Amino acid sequence: MTVIKPKVRGFICTTAHPDGCKALVKSQIDYVKSHDHADGPQKVLIIGASMGYGLASRITAAYSFGAATLGVIFDKPAGGARTASSGWYNTAAFEEFAHADGLYAKTINGDAYSKEIKDKTIDIIKNDWGKVDLIVYSLAAPRRKMSDGTIYSSVLKTVGKPYTNKTIDLKTKKVQEITVEPASDEEIEATIKVMGGEDWQEWIDALKAADAVSENAVTVAYSYIGPEMTHAIYADGSIGKAKDHLMMTAKNITAADDGIKAYISVNKALVTQSSAAIPIVPLYISILYKVMKKHGVHEGCIEQMYRLFNQKLFQGEAVTDAECRIRLDDLEMQDTIQSEVKELWEKINTENLEKCADLDGYHQDFYQLFGFGADGVDYDADTDVDYSIESIENTNGCC
Ligand code: NAD
Repeated sequence: MTVIKPKVRGFICTTAHPDGCKALVKSQIDYVKSHDHADGPQKVLIIGASMGYGLASRITAAYSFGAATLGVIFDKPAGGARTASSGWYNTAAFEEFAHADGLYAKTINGDAYSKEIKDKTIDIIKNDWGKVDLIVYSLAAPRRKMSDGTIYSSVLKTVGKPYTNKTIDLKTKKVQEITVEPASDEEIEATIKVMGGEDWQEWIDALKAADAVSENAVTVAYSYIGPEMTHAIYADGSIGKAKDHLMMTAKNITAADDGIKAYISVNKALVTQSSAAIPIVPLYISILYKVMKKHGVHEGCIEQMYRLFNQKLFQGEAVTDAECRIRLDDLEMQDTIQSEVKELWEKINTENLEKCADLDGYHQDFYQLFGFGADGVDYDADTDVDYSIESIENTNGCC
């Protein structure tokens, strides 16, 4: 038992709070329970299920549709006095709630890029379900290890030429200029390997080869476009090249014409473990939060995934733009929102930072990623860092 405090290093927090994670998972479940439900898929695989958009997808599938969920995560259990990762605690809490509510929920902890984890996942699907109806691909990873041991690392750089714009140092609360250097061709290729669609396609191919995909199954992966001030670092940067590849993969999966429809959902910019590491974007997000909250249209991961599943993806034909993308960034990209964001972006500096941006909202979301700052949790209490994921505990380390 120990008192757990946040220990922030750079863009991550090296501790996580089990009670806080549990409270925050519960509030996401309560959100979905308190809203109307469409009919939807009953057997859902979520790859990258422990945090951010993947966790919210899992919660929405389970509590909107009553779906059985199988989550693939890559998280650390507690060890000695060291806390588990927040994704571990989120998953332990999700399974505890789901099982208490009579819902099937199992989890596989391991590297989703590996063949071993794909095989384990398929074994469970074949044994427990026969076939899967929905595959959510929500990985955000810094690197990918190939079967021959080669490691590719993704980079968050521009393509072609350097780009200078404002950014925020969240520690010192200073707005300063940053120049982001262009990625080399090798770095772009590596980023596509990690965050592009190759691994998504491998999952679909492996599931199909095992005859583990339902007729008319759906698969969805997530992307981001954003406004012009972020394009050089995101949509037109190295990560954007990977997202182009993800889009092409969606087209290829659907074009195979074997009943599986693949979609890209373009989601809103939100504070998650992966977006916190992108230069320029955290300042944009802080301003965006300010403007969207003022207009009453701010959403978090759960509101976004609730809309995706209940209003865009499973209400008859999927609601897409001309390029077959689902636009959950519709509210973020409204002209009124973007023109106010742009105005604030142009005048923001260290002196007027608190007035022009929702720094408190950014910080709150950042700490909540690790279970800190949840209502009703006693953060001064001695807390047990051990919190088992039920399905993993029941099966000796593997589901
Ligand atoms: P996140 O960091 O919150 O979650 C990523 C998940 O992937 C975590 O559960 C993590 O454990 C898991 N993961 C990472 N490597 C893994 C591995 N090797 N094996 C198994 N699991 C692994 O990220 P997020 O922001 O929710 O991003 C999910 C997707 O949404 C990404 O494709 C991202 O580009 C996209 N997206 C994010 C935003 C945003 O603003 N955060 C906006 C639009 C789209």
